[in-house]
Amino acid sequence: MDTCPVIRTATYLSGQLYDDCPVRAVKEGPATMSVTNRILIIGAGPVGLVAANLLVDEGLAVTLIEASVDLPRDLRASTFHPPTLDMLERFGVTDSMIAQGLICPTWQFRDRNEGAVATFELARLGDETRHPYRLQCEQWRLGEMLHARLERHPLATLRFGCKALGARQNGSGVEVDLVDGDGTTETLSGAFVIGSDGIGSVVRKAMGAEFEGQTIPEIFLTISTTFDFSSAIPDIANISYISDPQEWFVLIRTASVWRALFPVDSGLTDQEVTAPERIERLLQGAVARPGSYEVRHRTAYRVHERVASRYVSGRMLIAGDAAHVNNPLGGMGLNGGRRKVALDVVQQTTLRNRAMLNTREPDARAAYYADLRRTVADPQAHKAYLMRTSMIQSLRDVASIP
Ligand SMILES: Cc1cc2nc3c(=O)[nH]c(=O)nc-3n(C[C@H](O)[C@H](O)[C@H](O)COP(=O)(O)OP(=O)(O)OC[C@H]3O[C@@H](n4cnc5c(N)ncnc54)[C@H](O)[C@@H]3O)c2cc1C
Repeated sequence: MDTCPVIRTATYLSGQLYDDCPVRAVKEGPATMSVTNRILIIGAGPVGLVAANLLVDEGLAVTLIEASVDLPRDLRASTFHPPTLDMLERFGVTDSMIAQGLICPTWQFRDRNEGAVATFELARLGDETRHPYRLQCEQWRLGEMLHARLERHPLATLRFGCKALGARQNGSGVEVDLVDGDGTTETLSGAFVIGSDGIGSVVRKAMGAEFEGQTIPEIFLTISTTFDFSSAIPDIANISYISDPQEWFVLIRTASVWRALFPVDSGLTDQEVTAPERIERLLQGAVARPGSYEVRHRTAYRVHERVASRYVSGRMLIAGDAAHVNNPLGGMGLNGGRRKVALDVVQQTTLRNRAMLNTREPDARAAYYADLRRTVADPQAHKAYLMRTSMIQSLRDVASIP
């Protein structure tokens, strides 16, 4: 059974999990599709695009509504975990992602002063997945491929440059109010609405779902640079979480640049956070070198750990960041999904990763390190850790729920 958030959405819509799902009534083939039985999807991020592709492949008409005029190319997810790559194969995009991306066979916890603490080897998952590695590939690359696939599909209608203002439902359908860039308003009808409209989801609000959790105190600053950190730190893995009681950071290599992520004081303005002098100081702190760093992108994010109180309400569903958000330490936001997994695995893992990176008490740091060293040294524990952090284990656990 498929269990990423949007695949879960599709299984609901296919009636596999949601037995009384009335969508079967509209699954009659393209000839009878009309505006009243289409599925409205709000938000063309990776989750909305995957949901739309799943549904058109199932023979259901979709109208995908996106506020931006173009697909965004911002610095967000780049890590794809093994089961996500397995799931994306059905769209014929995985090989192209691999060709454009960077295969990362290992990832590391490091101490800023001591160096490598633990190196995890994903090849140990060789019997569990067709992709026993993490892939670094910017999420917009996936978005562009999925978008191109929809553009060619007769059951997909794409409405870019249209913002959803609100949604409502009754026993037989849903309505979504839109406004376009000229201020023209319109109301669309459909059989269901999927809110893949990110953290501020209008569908989540229309469902009356709470977004329970916390906001992380620091701002996360993401930078990309052309400097090759492996030239200065030869044993660094392509994905490295670097712990330090004063200033932890993360270094991630993609096919073209290295990405660095630093925590920054949330009292600063956006302009202060992304000031060139701050960025240079942070990068020089990571690796001191003559001359200045060439920086390609910089983005500051406020980070939350929140899960919606429910994902489904009648004919309204939410998926992706609309339903669950977490800190990016572990690359699990886009790869995570079902509510139980978001609460029991993703939040626990990402919060523990943050604690391992920023804990100040020497004894607590030493205990974390000892635990990590024990885990990598024991083949069974090593594999179990990888099964959990790659989310293969939680997919299996969820699949076994009757
Ligand atoms: C710095 C950073 C690094 C990350 N790294 C990773 C990683 O390595 N791996 C990982 O798995 N995850 C990572 N994530 C998380 C990942 O980027 C998100 O989980 C992912 O983008 C969620 O996709 P989505 O489609 O649900 O939402 P989004 O990508 O937020 O897309 C939502 C879309 O909806 C549109 N929209 C919003 N409101 C409306 C409206 N009212 N009407 C119409 N359209 C609307 C938006 O314009 C947007 O296009 C990272 C996040 C950050 C911030």
